[in-house]
Formats: sequence, structure tokens, C-alpha cells
Amino acid sequence: MYGKFTEQYPTCALKFLYNHIKQPDSRKENAPFWDGRAVCRTGNCVSAKLIIDHINDRQPTDQEDVVVHVTVRGKCTHVRTADELEFNVDMPNRRQLSGMQHHKTGDVINTSATSATEMHFSKLGQLQKDEVAAGNVTVCQTPSILSQVAYERRMSERLHPNAVLELDIARKCWQSSVVGPTIPGYIQQLGLQPFHVVFYSEQQVRTYVDACKAGDAVIHCDATGSVMSSLPGQKRLLYYCFLLCNGSLPVVDILTTRHSGDWLHRLLLMFNSSVRRLTRGRVVMPKQVVTDFSYALMSAFNGDMTIEALYTLM
Ligand SMILES: [Zn+2]
Repeated sequence: MYGKFTEQYPTCALKFLYNHIKQPDSRKENAPFWDGRAVCRTGNCVSAKLIIDHINDRQPTDQEDVVVHVTVRGKCTHVRTADELEFNVDMPNRRQLSGMQHHKTGDVINTSATSATEMHFSKLGQLQKDEVAAGNVTVCQTPSILSQVAYERRMSERLHPNAVLELDIARKCWQSSVVGPTIPGYIQQLGLQPFHVVFYSEQQVRTYVDACKAGDAVIHCDATGSVMSSLPGQKRLLYYCFLLCNGSLPVVDILTTRHSGDWLHRLLLMFNSSVRRLTRGRVVMPKQVVTDFSYALMSAFNGDMTIEALYTLM
């Protein structure tokens, strides 16, 4: 409602004081379908009355277009004129982010490379002239509010405050939703000490097997940090990704706090045993494995799974 109001009247951020929907059994025959009262958040400024009438004596249905009759009383008191430098208001001329706006804003910050500060400045540039003159900054929330919104959005999507228990819940969910005939689920291994998670689905193993059989499989592997907060009493957590070069499709992802070649090799052996379950015991190998000069990653591949691939690399 405010979004539509502000298109016509951009200077004031409204605070709704009263909203009433007429009940179907109401005896007030002439009452409108929806009656709303609002005032400008700044204090001594305009008040607005918003009315939605019944359509042909019936209630409007969901998604139906309605006409909103708006009456604004008073005159906006905080529009800066050319010779005024500033004006004082009792309350900030800004509405809180709520509902869909709250969700959408949090999602944009969490899923894109845009930071809260960048979003603030980008929205600042989109303010209309009238909004700037009246100091209505609803569209452009401060960076700290935007960071808070993003944080709340992330928290609302968490399954459990403890990261390990959250992963265990996710593992069970995937097990029942990603149903493969041979390898169900997506989290194939979850351990506490040392902390480690191995992610792959049957679809990924199948793609890897097909690429190996076709003879052109090139696997890129790399490790990176900062994907998850550190775990008390454990070493730095790294995320290892093994990608098929063709299509940049991950075939297996590993999160772990132990980084020795032996340990990574052991985790890859488990992936290899899943591969064999799909190939009826036959060993398939990628044509090449590309990695940086990480000793752990190189020795992880120094097993029966890809020993020839390692020679090719050398
Ligand atoms: Zn106002």
C-alpha cells in the first residue's frame, strides 16, 4: 500500500495507525471494504485516509485490481526549499523494511557480490528528487540496517544454530529428497573429529563416470578457506572442490579441518568406491588431474584411483 502511495506522494514515509477490513457479517452497510489511517512518521505533518470500496457489493478477491481512494490532510512540512539549508524533524522520515521487502533485500545481499554499503549507495542514486528534498529515505536504508536485514535473513534460513547439527539435518533432508537408485542423498559422509563433510550425488558420480569412459575427463582441484566459521578446538577449515573441466561441474566437494594427503586420499577413496558401485567394479580414471602445487592435493591423488592421471600431470 505504501509503495503505491509513495508513487503519488513521495515526500512522506507513512506510519499506519489503523487498518480495518469489513467483516462479511458486519451490520455497517455503508462501511468500505478496507479503511486505513496513516500519518507521516516525522511528526507534525500530513495525515492520510485510505479507502478501498467493495466491488459491486462484494469483497475483492486475491490478485484483483482495486481502486484506493486517498485523502491527504495538511501540507508537508519538511520539503526543503531552495533557500533553506536544513529542516528539523522529530522522527526519521523512513519506514522500516518489512515483509517481502525485508526478504528480498536480505536475499540480494546474501546471494550476490553486493555489500550492504554498495547497496546503500546504489539506492541513494535511485532516490527521486522529491524524496531527496523531503528527506524520505525509505528506499535507501542505512548500511547498518541493510547488514542487519541480511544477517536476520541468513539466521531465519538456518535449520539449527549449531553448524554440525544443521549439516546433519540437511543430510537427512537430502537423503529423503535426492533419491538415487544406488547412491541416495548429497552429504555422503559427516564426521566430527576431525570435522569433515563429503558432498556428492549419484548424478555427479554418473557424470564423472561418463566423462572418464569418454576418455576426455580433466579434473581441476583446488582448496579455499572462509566458507564457514571456524570450529572450536579444530584447525582451519578448508573447502576442497573437484571440478570437471568440461562444463565446470563439481563431481565431489569436501569440507574438512584436516589437510594431510593421506586423509584427503582416504576421503577420495570413498568417492571411488561409489564410482565402482556404478561401474560394477570397473575402475575408471580421468585423463588428467590439474592442481596447484599443493602437496596434500597431489598426494591425495596418488592412489589407485588416479595414479596414471598423476603421471600424466608430472
Ligand atoms: Zn511528512
